[in-house]
Amino acid sequence: MAVLICGGAGYIGSHVNKMLNRKGHETVVFDNLVYGHREAVKWGSFVEGDLKNPEEIKTVFETYPIDAVMHFAAYAYVGESVTDPEKYYFNNVVNALNLLQVMRKYGCDKIIFSSTCATYGEPEQVPITEDMPQNPINPYGASKLMVERILKDYSQAYGFDYAILRYFNAAGADPEGEIGENHDPETHLIPLVLDAASGRRSDIKVFGTDYPTRDGSCVRDYIHVADLADAHILALKYLQNNGMSECFNLGNERGTSVLEVIKAVRKVTGKDFKVTLAERRPGDPVTLVGSSDKAKAMLGWRPNYVDIETIVEHAWKWHEKTGW
Ligand code: UDP
Repeated sequence: MAVLICGGAGYIGSHVNKMLNRKGHETVVFDNLVYGHREAVKWGSFVEGDLKNPEEIKTVFETYPIDAVMHFAAYAYVGESVTDPEKYYFNNVVNALNLLQVMRKYGCDKIIFSSTCATYGEPEQVPITEDMPQNPINPYGASKLMVERILKDYSQAYGFDYAILRYFNAAGADPEGEIGENHDPETHLIPLVLDAASGRRSDIKVFGTDYPTRDGSCVRDYIHVADLADAHILALKYLQNNGMSECFNLGNERGTSVLEVIKAVRKVTGKDFKVTLAERRPGDPVTLVGSSDKAKAMLGWRPNYVDIETIVEHAWKWHEKTGW
């Protein structure tokens, strides 16, 4: 039996594909390569296709004995989701529904879904636990929350089993250096700071210095992509052992500010670069730090690379190797 990885040519999906193969699973990556990279699919089978075309999804189910699906394929630029919500609701919600409909038709009812801490919006308190209110403040977060709701209804009505994984800030790269983060355009903090360190950018802008945090910059929970990959393997095992459908936060429970990330990059790279203090970026919550107690208790998950310097070090090695 095989695991279908929708969006497996992307950043997180490619790391999960590697880990699944290492654990002896057969995988089929399905990706339209809009943001994914063909060269990131180094393991398993690859099918180029788009979830907007149900016929293409059906072909995968006709060809391979798919036993479970991991669904990473989504657009994830928060700012763009505000200016072009239609693009996000079609790609992230309608296409997920296309996938679920085909899964039903072929009797496949196990799914691991990539959700996000953006579904919580501006949290009332941190660390955030799974039972806290979900009031997303941008269409990206709203689109993910809609799919969460659809999955709950599919579970209730059609007996689907799901694990919804709400990622905090995915960061770092494969510790063995085979794959890493290659977004184009890049909007994430760590790769942009690395670009400043390597001279590919003239500076790094700190979006907001007057937040009510210890140094005035936003605080995020950076979680190593290899630790996220481990959690997917455990979630699959959990569903295969008839675990109840559940939502899990995946973060490393440490808050790191933007200025602290910059400090870590200076230390790891040994390079100095220009830091420009800038205005707040619209739509940024002040602090997002997750509690991962539930994933630890129910999945037996333990993040291995919790230190921000280690996360930055792995990202830097990838950056130096590839020029990204
Ligand atoms: N950020 C920044 N400068 C940049 C990019 C990001 O100061 O050039 C900040 C951003 O405002 C947020 C944090 O870094 O507080 C993490 O942003 P990122 O886009 O990496 O992830 P997000 O938390 O938005 O998912």
